[in-house]
Amino acid sequence: MSEEKKELRHKKSMEKQKANVDHSIAEATEERGLVILLTGDGKGKSSSAFGMAIRSLGYNLKIGIIQFIKGVQLSGEEIFIRDKHPEVYFHQMGTGFTWDTQDRSSDIKAAEDSWTHAEKLLCDPSIYLVILDELTYMLSFKYLDEEKVLAAIRSRPHEQSVVITGRGGGSAIRELADTVSEIKDIKHAFHAKIKARKGIDY
Ligand code: ATP
Ligand code: MG
Repeated sequence: MSEEKKELRHKKSMEKQKANVDHSIAEATEERGLVILLTGDGKGKSSSAFGMAIRSLGYNLKIGIIQFIKGVQLSGEEIFIRDKHPEVYFHQMGTGFTWDTQDRSSDIKAAEDSWTHAEKLLCDPSIYLVILDELTYMLSFKYLDEEKVLAAIRSRPHEQSVVITGRGGGSAIRELADTVSEIKDIKHAFHAKIKARKGIDY
């Protein structure tokens, strides 16, 4: 095919693509807060949620973050929010919740306590974005009542968005969410015996 023909074909295909995108943009007329679920086995769920936190903070919008599992290692995002954005409502489930020493009754109590913080945010129309980091595990383990969680998210203020992260979590939360991304684990450096990196993994 001549270069001229290639150019023409490319131009036509781009025009068609642009028309499709413009049409979809024109069709999207509803404005409201979203529920976003970031799930799957691959790396990138919490860091994506914190990316949206930064986007919102860039517009001076109020955000709240509840972390349902506290890592052993202090993470960069915790340091950043605590030191540079003390105005952010930031709560961490403060137990030594770990995968191998789960004390069911104290974990349930801690999950319920953290949920009261989440509910407070989900009732507050001044909060533009609520991040419920690792919430799915609280549902999978049945530490929190699913219907209570769904009801609070459903009845949140109209303009408020909620980002939920974590693997699994059941089908009800997927159905409720407007956007669901499943991050697939293709490979992870850790399995090649490479140590977790500051600023990248925590
Ligand atoms: P991140 O916080 O980096 O976005 P995540 O929220 O998707 O990761 P989590 O299950 O919360 O994943 O685990 C957080 C930590 O575990 C990070 O240090 C991350 O690099 C690591 N991790 C995530 N996925 C995997 C995986 N598939 N294999 C090994 N380590 C992983
Ligand atoms: Mg995470």
